[in-house]
Amino acid sequence: MKEALVFNIQRFSIHDGEGIRSTVFFKGCGLHCKWCHNPESQSYQKQIIRYEERCKNCKACMNFCPHQGIKEVKGKIELDRKNCHTCGTCLDYCVYNALEIAGKPYTANQLVEIVKRDRMLYEESGGGVTLSGGEVMSQSIGFLLELCKKLKRLGIHITIDTCGLAPRESYQQLVPYVDAFLYDIKTIDQQKHELFVGDGLETILDNLIEINKMDAIITIRVAVIGGFNDREKEIQEMIQWLVMNQIKVKKIDLLPYHEAGSIKYQRLGRSYEKKKMSVPSPEKMEAIKNIFIEHGFQNISIGG
Ligand code: SF4
Ligand code: SF4
Repeated sequence: MKEALVFNIQRFSIHDGEGIRSTVFFKGCGLHCKWCHNPESQSYQKQIIRYEERCKNCKACMNFCPHQGIKEVKGKIELDRKNCHTCGTCLDYCVYNALEIAGKPYTANQLVEIVKRDRMLYEESGGGVTLSGGEVMSQSIGFLLELCKKLKRLGIHITIDTCGLAPRESYQQLVPYVDAFLYDIKTIDQQKHELFVGDGLETILDNLIEINKMDAIITIRVAVIGGFNDREKEIQEMIQWLVMNQIKVKKIDLLPYHEAGSIKYQRLGRSYEKKKMSVPSPEKMEAIKNIFIEHGFQNISIGG
C-alpha cells in the first residue's frame, strides 16, 4: 500500500487558500531555501526534534534508547543524530514532551479519513484541503492521484501549494483533479536562485507555463525577502516574466519574510544561515504591491 511521510496536518487553516482548510504538510523538498520556516519539511526522511527548553535532563530517553542515539556530555544529554534510527522509543519515556519525530507515514485512505471530518466546515466556508510541504508534487504520483481522486469523489476542494520543482508529468496528470494552485516564485534570476534556493529554476518556470496552458487556477505566491528579492528591479523582472508568458494569475500573495522559524533549525541540530536576509518593512511590502497594481494585477494580498 502506498504511503507518504507527513509532518503536520493543520486544521482550521485560513492562510493556505480559500475558506477554512485542512492543510497536509508532506515531508521532502528538492529546494533548500535559506529562509525556509519549516526546515523539518526539507528532508524526505523522518527526523528527531528536541525542545531543549522543555528538557529536565532526567536521562530517561538515554536509558531506553536501543540505538545509542542519545549520549551524555558533561552531565547533560545530547542527541547523537548519526546513531538515531528515529524509532521513537525515547518519546514514550519523555514525560516532558521534549522529543518529537517529524514525519509519520500515511496512506491516502488514512489522510482522507482525517480531513473529511471537517467537510461541513469546508462547505460552509468555501474551503477544502490544501496539500503542501515540503514539496507535495515530489511525492509519488501514484499516491497523489489516489489521494486527489478520493477527495474529489467526496466533493472536497483541493488546493496544491507547490514550489514548482517536480516532474512535469506529475503536474500534467494531477491538474485535472486540482481546483487551485498556490505557486511559489522566488526570483527569476538564475544566479540568485542557485545561491539562496538551489537548482531548478528552469523546471519551476516550465511547470508554471505548463499548468497555465492546462487552465489551472493559479495564485502566485512571492516570499518577499529583504536583501534577496525586495528591490524594484527583481519585482519588475518577475512581473515581466509573468506577462511575457501570459500566465493567467487569479491572485498574488506577497508573503513577508519572518524569522519565526529560526528556532526550529536548532531543534533539528542545524544552524540557521541568516546570510544577508532581512524582514521587509510594511512600507516596502506596500511599495511592492503597488508595482504589481501598476502592471494591471488586481487581486493582491499581503500576508496570504
Ligand atoms: S528515536 Fe530511537 S534511536 Fe533515536 S534517540 Fe530516540 S530512541 Fe534513540
Ligand atoms: S527524557 Fe525528555 S526530559 Fe528527560 S532527558 Fe530525555 S529529553 Fe530530557
